[in-house]
Amino acid sequence: MHAQVLESPGQPLRPRQLARPELEEHHVRIAVGACGVCRTDLHIRDGELASPKLPLVLGHEIVGRVIEGGSRFETGARVGVPWLAWACGECRACTSGRENLCERALFTGYTRDGGYAEETVADERFCVALPEGRPDSELAPLLCAGLIGYRSLRFAGDAERIGLYGFGAAAHIIAQVARAEGRRVFARTRPDDREAQSLARELGAEWAGSVDDALPEALDAAIIFAPAGELVPRALAAVARGGRVVCAGIHMSDIPSFPYELLWGERSVLSVANLTRADGSEFFALLEHMSVRTTVQPFGLDEAEVALARLRAGAVRGAAVLVVGDHRS
Ligand SMILES: [Zn+2]
Ligand SMILES: [Zn+2]
Repeated sequence: MHAQVLESPGQPLRPRQLARPELEEHHVRIAVGACGVCRTDLHIRDGELASPKLPLVLGHEIVGRVIEGGSRFETGARVGVPWLAWACGECRACTSGRENLCERALFTGYTRDGGYAEETVADERFCVALPEGRPDSELAPLLCAGLIGYRSLRFAGDAERIGLYGFGAAAHIIAQVARAEGRRVFARTRPDDREAQSLARELGAEWAGSVDDALPEALDAAIIFAPAGELVPRALAAVARGGRVVCAGIHMSDIPSFPYELLWGERSVLSVANLTRADGSEFFALLEHMSVRTTVQPFGLDEAEVALARLRAGAVRGAAVLVVGDHRS
């Protein structure tokens, strides 16, 4: 099968013909229809995350059809493969509803092969059953950008005024969820990123501007999607007393030191790590009652490097997705 393969971090992905992997117990073989391109893929590609499996097929926002294997899904069923590929089920984290924090967890497109390929195999117990009725490419970004965004929004508590720092794949989905929940959205982007600001306004943000522009009022919570540590003290300065600053990315540059005064007043800073299967079922159940659309820039499988370069340059409107098969419904 054809795949885009990372052989050495820091080097471009290479097109390769790979042998079809063996099917282990509980695993299904999936024909990939589309696979989202997440910022985490870029961090792995650029060598910013330690110890990936090598050689590696990136990609953890996979939408496809079951070809064979397992017992949970019928052949032809539409499934999603998210970031959490496996958790041990036995450790303190796993037995307390926090399998996202399992020390032995495996991750799709990082410590297991992912979806930048014509086919993939995945543990069916960690797959998500997906609805019919929308193209694969529109569903793909929901599997990480949507899910991590959703978990981050939950961590923001009942904050009414939400600041989204970095308006890419995750923010453009979660802004819609936040609006549907009656929250007010403030989008903060890189200076002069008019594209992202206009998308934010289209999706219901009442304010969209550069991170350097003054906000019209204080925030109750800030969610930082951009991998820039200097945003943490800036977000703390923007939230009211009791406000939360949620860091949603897997990688961030160092956070500069800041005066305690910024944290004082029961402000808090926390990170979101990975996701649980419960997040997946909760989020997709929620979407059945909510109109959330994804803005997608499609690329071919062989354009994976191009898509990653666009993401690195901040030149993707919404979410980049590799369209692999013809499994549209
Ligand atoms: Zn565990
Ligand atoms: Zn991701």
